[in-house]
Amino acid sequence: MRAIVLREFGPPENLRLEEVPAPSLRAGEALIRVGAVNVDLYQTVVRRGAAVGVELPRIIGNGIAGAVAALGPGATGPAPGTRVVVCNNASCGDCRYCRAGRDTLCVERSIVGAHRDGGYAEFVAVPARDCVELPATVPFADASLVPNTIGPVVKACSRTAGIRLAENVVVVGAGGGMGIHAVQAARACGARVIAALRSMGAAGAVREAGAEVVVSTRNPDWHAEARRLSGGWGADVVLDFVANRETLKSSMEALGPGGRLVVMGYFPRGGVLETPTWVFSEERTVTGNRSAGRRDVAAAVSLLREGRIKALVDRTFRLEDAAAAHRAVEAKEIVGRAVIVP
Ligand SMILES: [Zn+2]
Repeated sequence: MRAIVLREFGPPENLRLEEVPAPSLRAGEALIRVGAVNVDLYQTVVRRGAAVGVELPRIIGNGIAGAVAALGPGATGPAPGTRVVVCNNASCGDCRYCRAGRDTLCVERSIVGAHRDGGYAEFVAVPARDCVELPATVPFADASLVPNTIGPVVKACSRTAGIRLAENVVVVGAGGGMGIHAVQAARACGARVIAALRSMGAAGAVREAGAEVVVSTRNPDWHAEARRLSGGWGADVVLDFVANRETLKSSMEALGPGGRLVVMGYFPRGGVLETPTWVFSEERTVTGNRSAGRRDVAAAVSLLREGRIKALVDRTFRLEDAAAAHRAVEAKEIVGRAVIVP
């Protein structure tokens, strides 16, 4: 099969097309013919060698949608031919977290495309248990955004933050691939969304995604503006996709009494919460949202099918152009997400 094999960590040019044997199936696995795989910043981190626990050579790429081509020994479904989307975390199904439905905390979790081969290929082998069925009306390219973009933000809004009708929600980093889908997910929960952006280039797209107001985080007092725009009380929920020292402090300031802060920044770079007494005295909640579990992936697929969330696929690349896709992502040329179609 054709695959992009990373043999040495480094620049995008290291993503080279090769002809390699199709993966052999182990017990409980499904072979997926990849229909589309999304490209995100995490994959560029894996490529550079900055992600934890990645061994080479590796076929990278998580956020996979495709069709089941075959089942390995002991795998009971989904049947060959079924269209599916693949969860990012390969889980054991048996540890205390998996049994509690918190498979993103599985003690044996491995990330597809980092700790096991991923979707920059014609075929990928994944645990059959981690495949979620996809309706015929949801294109593979759209669905490829579910595991690491739409699924996590749906989880953050509906379960982690528990956003309720008419609440004021601030999305920090709303111009990024995660943030712009979080605006939609918060709207789908019935919230009124205030988007906080560093660069105003994406402001139009963010408004189109459902943000009522856009504020600039270049203004050091943006949190005061967010409080004022939240009825003067402060926000009910802040979703912080940046999570550095400055945004965490401002996010706390933007939050009203009883508010919930969800930390979703991937590169905290020493981010700290400097106002712990606020958590106590005004009963704020601070929590994290790592990635999407099976049920969040299924919920995100439903929202896509119902048209309540739109997958923002900005550009589509061929497999052999994986390096160009990474350059575009790293140059922040993409609004929403880029997708590779093998
Ligand atoms: Zn487990």
